[in-house]
Amino acid sequence: MLLTHKQTAIIGGGPGGLTLARLLQLQGAVVTVYERDLDRTARQQGATLDLHADSGLRALTEAGLLDAFRRHYRPGADRLRLADGQARILFDQHEQAEELSFGHEHFRPEIDRAPLRELLLDALRPGTVAWNSQLRELTRAGAGWHLHFQDGRTAYADVVIGADGATSKVRPMVTPRPPFFTGYTLVEGTIDDAARHAPGLWALTKGGKVFALAHDQSIILSAKGDGSLSFYTCQASTEDWVQRSGLDFRNPPQVAAWFAQDFAAWSPAWQELFATEHVYLVPRPQYCMPLDQTWETQPTLTLLGDAAHLMPPYAGEGVNMAMLDALELSRCLTDGRFADLHAAIGHYEAEMRQRGSTVAAVSVEAMQQLHSPGAMAWMSQLTEA
Ligand SMILES: Cc1cc2nc3c(=O)[nH]c(=O)nc-3n(C[C@H](O)[C@H](O)[C@H](O)COP(=O)(O)OP(=O)(O)OC[C@H]3O[C@@H](n4cnc5c(N)ncnc54)[C@H](O)[C@@H]3O)c2cc1C
Repeated sequence: MLLTHKQTAIIGGGPGGLTLARLLQLQGAVVTVYERDLDRTARQQGATLDLHADSGLRALTEAGLLDAFRRHYRPGADRLRLADGQARILFDQHEQAEELSFGHEHFRPEIDRAPLRELLLDALRPGTVAWNSQLRELTRAGAGWHLHFQDGRTAYADVVIGADGATSKVRPMVTPRPPFFTGYTLVEGTIDDAARHAPGLWALTKGGKVFALAHDQSIILSAKGDGSLSFYTCQASTEDWVQRSGLDFRNPPQVAAWFAQDFAAWSPAWQELFATEHVYLVPRPQYCMPLDQTWETQPTLTLLGDAAHLMPPYAGEGVNMAMLDALELSRCLTDGRFADLHAAIGHYEAEMRQRGSTVAAVSVEAMQQLHSPGAMAWMSQLTEA
């Protein structure tokens, strides 16, 4: 075990960082997770997540958390409906008889972000997470690291793992290469109590997901267990579209006016997305880490998840890759295969970059296909496979 008598800091308590913390604690490592959220009640926005047998579910199994997952996943939420711009359903997995289950390689059970975070947090030793700890920068301290937080506090760690997502503050200490803009921007939203505030679209989901594709644009809906509706629209854009649009995304009527204009060829049924003040909106220009990225391994610093290989969400792999990184990194650090930390991290990074690049390329390709004239045919061929 290469972490004996070492303080390990994981920056970021997302799915990747918390999975790693759990796996390392099972091997006896001393771990602190520094998370910028104020506390564990911070609201988890965003679509539901489907976990895959060979990555996310595998990591949870090794973490001894598959039973907890079974208690919290949402049967049926993985069912997909495919719609056109007029909100006509062209394909409906709810009408398929086949019920997949655990153990089947194609079973992709869905879980909302909040229960996933809760079950990972519950599995950690009390006090593992230092909440309200937003990393500002890392500086070297001999072989280890000083952590400097936004509020002026500092801490020391022998080993640091950056699991701090798309805007990682750890990443620049590992590689200077920034992500590239993919040419698309999402507008992500969450509508509270959607049965009341967006009843038509809530009903359209049937408790699962809707992919609507038309005019080189898309709208993806997912129903969440707390009654909220999560969605994102997407179309090609310039990198600076958010600034140039002048839109205030805290002002739904402004965004509604933009949507009515840019998605004018779509049925008015979709305008329900922005016709309520109970919607929380975030614009997300889509970036991807360089597919050919490489860097020189450092013996006490590494990355995982989005911090290492941010990618667009269209292959549904981001969270699965983050959790698989956690599993592979924990093994390299604890299973006795490597003589020292440098060798262990070097092995992990080489495989992680390769895995991340392969999946990121698939995600970018899926995003391009879904926003092309052949989108419906491409998606239909996937759902029939
Ligand atoms: C709209 C949308 C839809 C998506 N849909 C899917 C999907 O269906 N399936 C899928 O697999 N993936 C999906 N993804 C991607 C997925 O959310 C990410 O790949 C995944 O969450 C990455 O996990 P992570 O642990 O690496 O990072 P994150 O989940 O981003 O977690 C990072 C954590 O670090 C914390 N943090 C950030 N900065 C700091 C700091 N400076 N100091 C301390 N803490 C910090 C954050 O608060 C957060 O808790 C989607 C993403 C988006 C935007």
